[in-house]
Parts: sequence; structure tokens; C-alpha cells
Amino acid sequence: MKSISDLGNLSGKKVLIRCDLNVPLDGDKITDDGRIRASVPTLNALREAGAAVIVLAHLGRPKGQVKPEFSLAPAAKRLGELLGTDVQLASDVVGESAQQLAAGLGDGDVMMCENVRYEPAEESKDEAERAELAKKYAALGADVFVSDGFGVVHRKQASVYDVAKILPNAAGKLVEKEVEVLKQLTTETKSPYVVVLGGSKVSDKLKVIDNLLKTADTLVIGGGMLYTFLKANGHEVGTSLLEEDQVETCKNYLAEAEKLGKQIVLPTDVVVAPEFNADAPATVVAADSIPADQMGLDIGPESAQAFANVIRSAHTVFWNGPMGVFEMAAFANGTREVAEALTKVDGLSVVGGGDSASAVRALGFADEDFGHISTGGGASLEYLEGKELPGLSALADN
Ligand code: ADP
Ligand code: MG
Repeated sequence: MKSISDLGNLSGKKVLIRCDLNVPLDGDKITDDGRIRASVPTLNALREAGAAVIVLAHLGRPKGQVKPEFSLAPAAKRLGELLGTDVQLASDVVGESAQQLAAGLGDGDVMMCENVRYEPAEESKDEAERAELAKKYAALGADVFVSDGFGVVHRKQASVYDVAKILPNAAGKLVEKEVEVLKQLTTETKSPYVVVLGGSKVSDKLKVIDNLLKTADTLVIGGGMLYTFLKANGHEVGTSLLEEDQVETCKNYLAEAEKLGKQIVLPTDVVVAPEFNADAPATVVAADSIPADQMGLDIGPESAQAFANVIRSAHTVFWNGPMGVFEMAAFANGTREVAEALTKVDGLSVVGGGDSASAVRALGFADEDFGHISTGGGASLEYLEGKELPGLSALADN
């Protein structure tokens, strides 16, 4: 994996860069600009080197269709403010508008193509289709490709993987920094090593547990996935998030953990409400007696304390996924307690995941309170699993 300093003299060159600018929005207002800020150091370095910069990025899941609500306009505007220069946004991804803007770029200028996921080929499973689109990205006049969208390096997508195959390339500063921290988490972990998992992408995250059980000493489970575990332990979970087809898998994990002498810590109490609503009446119930008409939206106070104790006594902690629906004040306590505990760790504490990062900032913590806040959730989990990440291995090839 090369650094941008290995790319030679970039003055007068056009650099195509993949960034992760997938920020949470409320209408067209950005509620956490962390990922945009994280992209700035590499972009500044490229501009200072005299390069003209073409930014590729995605927002949300438009699934191959042009949908205005997924426009990168808010991200382009914010990026412009942070860079102190106008960032022009093309009205298409690789069409006439993008080509025209790219052709007119001067040294130090920055432009952005529209949401790459407007193009159906971006996420296609068909290699040829993706390669075709990658060629169009390169044909915007790019001399080199820089991969700096750490949150997407686990995706085999045209702007992440295929384009790296056809252009001289390097990792950006963000990708380098993320990989450095994750390396520490896989090679120099000081025991006890605790992994805390939560969030809503249940089946995605369940898949990684198998591997984490081998490396971590303790796995703490909250958020949406905990209900599938409760079910595996024979409890009813009311209307909570549940992946029925993963219940058996969870049973196996629990058995596997026992065999390996590892601990899986589940909540003993949860905060429930009759509906997914900020104003719904919230009550605390025992985790093994969730009423049939209620859904679990946070871990309970007793569990939050227990989780915090486990975390505080660790020397290495990786946390991905909020403990509850932190966006609603009534269900934010578990996430707050876990975040607080991470700030007290004597050792390395890493927060990974878009929503997890937003959560700690929204709850008033500073980035410096943690060892590292990773911009990628899925990417960091897959790295910790020991999987090969296509976006990184494509870089190694060149
Ligand atoms: P990250 O982006 O950090 O990887 P995810 O995207 O997996 O995290 O999950 C974040 C989302 O999980 C948040 O929007 C939060 O509201 C939701 N969530 C957490 N706990 C629950 C729960 N019990 N039920 C439903 N959603 C939940
Ligand atoms: Mg998320």
C-alpha cells in the first residue's frame, strides 16, 4: 500500500479520490460532519501538492437511481467550508456535467461528482459492469487514484475496488491512520480485550461474532442484536428487532463461547416502549420478561452499569454500534454509559461506526476522549475479523 507521498510530483496532475462523506442528514442539514472533517487532511495535502482533485463519494442507499434526497449537495457545501474553497458539484456522476467540470479544473481546485450510487454499476455484482464504470471514472482525466474512504474499503464497488485496479494508486491519510489503529487491535492487544457490539444491522454484525470470539476475551452485546440472543436463550422479546433465522446461530455462538472459556455479556434489564417513538412511554423490565406488546429500545440501567464495569476494567476495547435508539433521549442512556466507560479505559479504546461516532459526539463527548474514533463500522469489523478488504487489497496490487 503506497502513501500519497509515493505518487511522485502531483503538481498539475488530476487526482481521483474516493472519500467517505456519508454523513447523517436531517432534511438537508448535516447532523454530524465527522466523516467530512476526517477527509480534509488528505484533500489539503493533495491541493498543497498542486493537484486538481476529483472527489467520488456516496450518500445513503439510492440503489442505482437518481434520487434528489441522496444528493451530495450538503456534503459538497460543507466540504467547501472546511477547505476554504469552492467545491463544485457535478449534476451527474460521470456524465456531461462531471466531464465538463473535470476538464476545467485548475491546480488546487476541487470538484465532486454526484452520488456514485446513482449509477447502478457502482454496486453491481457483475465485474464487467463495474469495470466499465471504473473506466468512466478514470476517463474524467485522472492520472492517479487515492483511496481515502475507509468506511467503504470492505466493499467491492467500482469507485473503491475496480478503479484502483486501473490507475496508479495510493492510500490516503485517513485510510492509513485507520489501518494503523486496527493493526494495533489485531496484533498488540493487551488483555482483557473487550468488544462491545450493538446497533441495528443485526445479521451483518452477527456474522463477525464467530471470529471475534477467537480474539477477544469478552463480548458485550446490546443494541438491536441483543434480542436475537435473548430469544436464543429462550426468552420472548415482544416486538423488538429480531432475526428469527439467526436464533440458531446465536445459540451456537453462546455454546462456542462457553467452550472457549470466553464471556458473552448480555443485558439483564432493558428499556421498552409500546412503539418506536420518542414520546412513547418508556419502562424498564427484566430482560427475560419483555411484554408481548412492547419493544426493547435500550439496555436498562442495571445492565448499563454492568457493561460499564466490564469496559472500565479492560485494557483494550473496541466498540461498534449504539446500545439503544440514542437518537431519542429516552433511549440514549445505555449508549451514554458505555461511551463514558470507554473514556475511562486504561489502554486502547476505539469507537467504530458511523452512527456510533455520531452518537458519542451528539452525547457531548469529544473525539479526544477516545483512543480513536473510526469512520467505518462494517469496514473495521471485517478488518478485525481478519477478512481481506477488497478496497485495501486492490491498493496492494499496484
Ligand atoms: P454503526 O453505524 O455505528 O455501525 P448501526 O448502523 O449498526 O451502527 O446502528 C445504528 C442504529 O441502531 C441507530 O440508528 C440506533 O437507533 C439503532 N438501534 C440501536 N438499538 C436499537 C434497538 N434496540 N432497536 C432498534 N434500533 C436500534
Ligand atoms: Mg450505521
